[in-house]
Amino acid sequence: MYAEQSALQCPSCGGMCYFSPVAQALECLSCGKVYNLDQPDDYLARDEFAHNKNVPDADPKSAPPQQTHQCRNCGGEVVFTGPALSENCPYCNGPVVLVPGDSGYKTMALIPFRVDAPFAKRLAQDWIDARICVPADLALTVEQGVVVGLYAPFWTFDSDEAVHYWANYVTYRNNKIRTRKTEGALDIMFDDLLMPASPHVTPLIRDGILHDFDPADLRPYRAGYLAGFAAEMHHQSVMEGLSANETDKDTLIRNHIKDEVNKTAVHGIRYLTDTTGIHYRRILLPVWILHYTYRAHAYRIVVSGIDGRTFGERPFSYRKMALFSAAVTACAMTVGMLLGAQAAF
Ligand SMILES: [Zn+2]
Ligand SMILES: [Zn+2]
Repeated sequence: MYAEQSALQCPSCGGMCYFSPVAQALECLSCGKVYNLDQPDDYLARDEFAHNKNVPDADPKSAPPQQTHQCRNCGGEVVFTGPALSENCPYCNGPVVLVPGDSGYKTMALIPFRVDAPFAKRLAQDWIDARICVPADLALTVEQGVVVGLYAPFWTFDSDEAVHYWANYVTYRNNKIRTRKTEGALDIMFDDLLMPASPHVTPLIRDGILHDFDPADLRPYRAGYLAGFAAEMHHQSVMEGLSANETDKDTLIRNHIKDEVNKTAVHGIRYLTDTTGIHYRRILLPVWILHYTYRAHAYRIVVSGIDGRTFGERPFSYRKMALFSAAVTACAMTVGMLLGAQAAF
């Protein structure tokens, strides 16, 4: 990464370039020249890699970055490339210190930022404006917040599951409830299950970008895309990623079995699955994180760098909530009285 910093120097004026989400290209901070990063074989970035359980992890390691920023608060470790150095952790806003970087695994691909900082901030503010029962001075607090762009590490996993299951369900006949047993087999193909590859990627961050992820948007990992943003490198082996994915997969398999059985109150599901065809990608996905503090509590709003989808944390105004619930009750009572009045005719 460090060696690639020189690649971010403007060939024309020697200034530093950063990746512009609007231009979808490298842009020089000094002279404004724009450099296209596209290559004819960019489509190869959506390739997946086969994983063989019986072959020990032979993953390519990346060259260690000279220095990494480590958060004193949450332990998050990020690399900054290019001009925009931040003094704070993108995950928790804690102070960061420079530490010698250790080598992670090679990132295969990423989706470049499409949403820029001013638009991300606007979306975060709109999100707050659209919430009900917020304290009156909250909009101003959020307006003063700063958004930080972060490439967060993710896995995508594919697999074929040959499932054999056993389950119970209930039937009602002649007022009698009976528990029945059933068993069967089904094949499930998982395609691009998205899995956070860092303990710092919370459900809030994952759900902010989970939905509209499209492998066709993937680009090869290049320093140019990272210029001006923080990035967390991958430090999990494929086996570690797969075992972290087990819980998600278990939930999905159980839902498939419930659909397959298609009876009332399906319960006591047990299953065995033969997993084959595991393919994976190590990717980075872009998010904007806005930190703000309200009455000594820290909150975050996360905006997808791909499509602007926004999720966040917010405080409630208890006074407004009381008024709101009173209004709902009053409304229900009015409707009740009207219906009552109608019935009396
Ligand atoms: Zn320049
Ligand atoms: Zn942190």
